[in-house]
Amino acid sequence: MNSASVVIVGGGVLGASVAYHLARRGWKDLLVLDRVSAPGGGSTSRSTGGFRAQYSTDINVRLSLLSRGKLRDFHHEIGADPGYQPVGYLWLADKWEEMEFLRNALRVQQAAGLEEAREVRAEGIPEINPHVSTDGLLGGAFCPTDGFIRPMQILQGYLDGAQRLGVSVEWGEEIRELEIGPGGRICRVITGRKEVACQAVVNAAGAWAAPLAAMAGVDLPVTPLKRQVAVTHPFGGLPADMPMTLFLGDGFHLRVRDGRVLLLRPDLPQSEDPYDTSVEPVWVESVVRTARARVPTLRETWMDLPSCWAGLYEMSPDRHALLGAAPECENLYLINGSSGHGVMHAPALGQLLSEIISDGRATTLDVAPLRPSRFAEGDANPLPALL
Ligand SMILES: Cc1cc2nc3c(=O)[nH]c(=O)nc-3n(C[C@H](O)[C@H](O)[C@H](O)COP(=O)(O)OP(=O)(O)OC[C@H]3O[C@@H](n4cnc5c(N)ncnc54)[C@H](O)[C@@H]3O)c2cc1C
Repeated sequence: MNSASVVIVGGGVLGASVAYHLARRGWKDLLVLDRVSAPGGGSTSRSTGGFRAQYSTDINVRLSLLSRGKLRDFHHEIGADPGYQPVGYLWLADKWEEMEFLRNALRVQQAAGLEEAREVRAEGIPEINPHVSTDGLLGGAFCPTDGFIRPMQILQGYLDGAQRLGVSVEWGEEIRELEIGPGGRICRVITGRKEVACQAVVNAAGAWAAPLAAMAGVDLPVTPLKRQVAVTHPFGGLPADMPMTLFLGDGFHLRVRDGRVLLLRPDLPQSEDPYDTSVEPVWVESVVRTARARVPTLRETWMDLPSCWAGLYEMSPDRHALLGAAPECENLYLINGSSGHGVMHAPALGQLLSEIISDGRATTLDVAPLRPSRFAEGDANPLPALL
């Protein structure tokens, strides 16, 4: 294609969701461009597939509830299985201030319509996850409708759905330049191989969103952050339906996927290259020590080092997404900075951005807390201290 109505840069789960939702609203001549050779070359395939509505801000809870409804309807709407498994998310606290934080978050969640999330006392933890050592734990919070999703099935579902509605998807096309025309608007997208005239561009470039925005003179506050995943050998000591279990204090969490246990803990990466995605053996050793102390049955298994992986989160300064037109370039639409929640929020964010592009504003939810101008206005969202 040498011209398009909207060019969506990035064929990850967010770009695919926007493309699908725009096409469903009747947009023609939509074009998705991605520099990798096949779906899943960015962060989407690296996601561990957690889904939760237990957030500490109203907007994030509402994004999750909107997404949850769309995931439940995904098969009917898109014809694919998003792998939604409501096995629950169990948050654990070992300090009173963490309990207080969870209680405040529960109040926010209930006000936003998430009624089934609840506080858990220390003695109630084994009923939900009998494999965790309760030493030192004061309690936590549990939501039975949180759980797991399958990121690549959601991505492929949206790509297939979009293509059925006429969207063109081209791989191996790296955007090198955004040509600015009259009025400071982008008029052309230039890759190494082609030039495409367009009316608008969607920045769905994930952890690489800032360099793309810079091509249009937009200073986007989104930075990459490495996240590593340690993976055990196949291990039957924990059940497949164990809830995602998270320790609020240091963010250590674990889940079972495809017969292996995945261990995560957010630590600052060692490399100075912000796009580095190597697995650090020292980190693996350290997270395994933590895991064995907190989940004693894990002393019976070992890490499968070649299966461990790392990928990039796309961090925004307040760890909330940026959604809508860039203040400095009115036809560059941002769907960026999900800060590690981009798969679970993709159904909602794609729909909401399609409303903004089509109607000038989102109608399903009030997305003012996600407006890209909030940082310049000094009105960022409260930073989630722990969640
Ligand atoms: C270890 C790990 C665990 C995670 N766990 C979860 C989880 O449990 N739940 C959850 O919801 N999220 C999770 N995430 C976060 C989630 O993976 C991301 O938020 C999500 O995938 C972002 O989707 P995206 O479409 O924006 O980005 P991506 O999937 O990275 O897609 C962006 C695409 O843009 C392309 N691109 C970039 N620049 C250009 C350019 N100049 N020209 C052409 N193409 C370009 C890239 O090639 C890429 O394919 C996790 C992430 C990691 C790393």
